[in-house]
Amino acid sequence: TLPEPEPARPGLIGRLFGRGEDEPKRLFDDAMLENLEELLIQSDMGVDTALRVAANIAEGRLGRRVSATELREALAEEVARIMEPVARPLPIYPKRPQVVLVVGVNGSGKTTTIGKLASQFRAAGKSVVIAAGDTFRAAAVEQLQIWGNRAGVPVLTAPEGSDPASLAFDALTKAQETGADLLLIDTAGRLQNRADLMEELAKIVRVLRKKDETAPHNTLLVLDATTGQNAINQVEIFRKIADVSGLVMTKLDGTAKGGVLVALADRFGLPIHAIGVGEQIDDLAPFDPQDFARALVG
Ligand code: GDP
Repeated sequence: TLPEPEPARPGLIGRLFGRGEDEPKRLFDDAMLENLEELLIQSDMGVDTALRVAANIAEGRLGRRVSATELREALAEEVARIMEPVARPLPIYPKRPQVVLVVGVNGSGKTTTIGKLASQFRAAGKSVVIAAGDTFRAAAVEQLQIWGNRAGVPVLTAPEGSDPASLAFDALTKAQETGADLLLIDTAGRLQNRADLMEELAKIVRVLRKKDETAPHNTLLVLDATTGQNAINQVEIFRKIADVSGLVMTKLDGTAKGGVLVALADRFGLPIHAIGVGEQIDDLAPFDPQDFARALVG
């Protein structure tokens, strides 16, 4: 005989109702409210957001019998309502080339995301140039070249240790000369010395503006969704050192259901332009608040 299949890990509401999920209804009492609050906090939604969401769900339900389905739908609706305003694709500017600065800590998925973005824009018939601006990490430059090859996009590099601002300047010059639609600029992700990184990013921006005073048109912060509450700290730090205009959340394909996205949306309101859902070149998807809410609620 075949072994019993593993039961799927229950979502938030499944855990709230436990084994009694098949029971038609259960009393929504103070204990259930507390359990709900606890589960939402554990999902990385952040305490403030979790308490507010739970209170909204309790409204009109406290003291009443509710079904798992009713709660599931109510919670999905609450989450989707928070997420809808931030679900916005990368805005396309009429200005060519559109200059996109990509920031984030090492390991967050910057290189991969740049490769995926380049590939998507190529597939849409746009011409793209990539600048390997993390000139201190030879491995990062090599990785970017591999992604550039996959996407069929030129990758501009500079000798190891050279000035990223000067590379950014050259890349914008080249993108302008060749009439490229999009310039994606990778940057260093060393937070060990924030003052240095801030100065480096500020210099890149200053130099870009010598060629195009409206550049950069977007500053994308790439965040690893599996880092939970850490993602919040990263937004706080990067907003201090760069003019972050939007987010890409990576690694949403794993076990992490990404409750931290709710906290981010509620707290910062920064648009989520795309989500990473795997390691392959096509694994970049638009952020869909309804799908996300359903997956989170389970
Ligand atoms: P960087 O240091 O910020 O440039 O990060 P990388 O782009 O090199 O990515 C770090 C690791 O995360 C690599 O092993 C990637 O394959 C992986 N990665 C990036 N994005 C995703 C994603 O959306 N899903 C998964 N599962 N892995 C990802």
